[in-house]
Amino acid sequence: MKILDTINALQNWRKSIAHDKSVGIVPTMGALHDGHRSLIARCRRENDICVVSIFVNPTQFNDPNDLATYPVTFEEDRAICEAEGVDAIFMPQYGDLYPDDYRYRVSEDRESCLLCGAHRPGHFDGVLSVVMKLFNLAQPRRAYFGEKDWQQLQLVKGMVDAFFMPVSVVACPTVRETDDLALSSRNRRLTSDHRKKAARFPHLLSTDASAAEVARLLKTDGFEVDYVEDFRGRRCAAIHCGGVRLIDNLPAPKTEDR
Ligand code: AMP
Repeated sequence: MKILDTINALQNWRKSIAHDKSVGIVPTMGALHDGHRSLIARCRRENDICVVSIFVNPTQFNDPNDLATYPVTFEEDRAICEAEGVDAIFMPQYGDLYPDDYRYRVSEDRESCLLCGAHRPGHFDGVLSVVMKLFNLAQPRRAYFGEKDWQQLQLVKGMVDAFFMPVSVVACPTVRETDDLALSSRNRRLTSDHRKKAARFPHLLSTDASAAEVARLLKTDGFEVDYVEDFRGRRCAAIHCGGVRLIDNLPAPKTEDR
């Protein structure tokens, strides 16, 4: 497995791959868990070559404390990638990936302002910009994204369509713990009490109650609620549990069920 830590190294590696070989990419911010692992395994199965990027992208963090406390576990990440048969890890530095210091960016001005975007100004500009850079560099045939970040998935698909980018975006189902909490790198930051309590989040989200009622019940349970909203057939939500921001989404209940 190659560790590519410069743009040059990635570009040279990419040039060495024969034209008829398919490249799949799994963009991540590291602190890999079984959710990432499912994306990597699928990428491995469906492509000749599998590259995983690990980059904690500062431009998508609106909260400096969230960025500063984001878990970094490179040795474990490397072992997971090795075990999954990854061909290369791309792990650039900010200055290399942003030679323009983010003067240029990709922006979507409608749906990126809703849901998470309403609470994290600029977040999706950062996401779309880094994903476009990764696609331009790695030139993948397929790119793997989790449904856990449903709004991100929709916006990446939209960007690919809008710019006629020659890549297929593959949506992968959310991997959950046995108590249904969606796996997330941020779960590591939960205390054991908050971790136990966090299971109420997917539980309440999966009921047939209205979105407003779910928000009320989450608040009653002591969570700080950013939003619970039904949007395009999904029930999407973000909460804070012990200072850790958690997001999740499920199919929205049919209104006639209520
Ligand atoms: P992140 O490292 O959090 O930026 O996530 C990298 C990719 O893994 C994104 O496409 C996420 O949607 C996906 N992902 C994160 N958590 C999960 C999960 N529990 N199940 C499936 N995919 C996930």
